[in-house]
Amino acid sequence: MNNADPPRLRCEHCSRPLQAGRGAFYLVRIEAVADPSPPVFDEEDFDRDFAIEIDQLLDRVRTLSEQDLEDQVHRQLAFLLCVPCYNRWIKNPTGANP
Ligand SMILES: [Zn+2]
Repeated sequence: MNNADPPRLRCEHCSRPLQAGRGAFYLVRIEAVADPSPPVFDEEDFDRDFAIEIDQLLDRVRTLSEQDLEDQVHRQLAFLLCVPCYNRWIKNPTGANP
């Protein structure tokens, strides 16, 4: 392979080689964001010892990388699917049971 060769594209699901410019695949982009709603508090929350909970939270955070922490609140994915794989996937993108 020399530097003039185009990058080899493959379907993320079935590994079929894909050729750009032929309408033979889809670029799928997914963005997942943790619940952006304001937190909801109830009576029990006001009885909690926040100093202990903050210490426990900091202990957990110290074991995670910056990337792990970011992944917990925001993920972006992009992948290619050939047309047959796309047509199967788009009918049930969450994988939910019918
Ligand atoms: Zn495929």
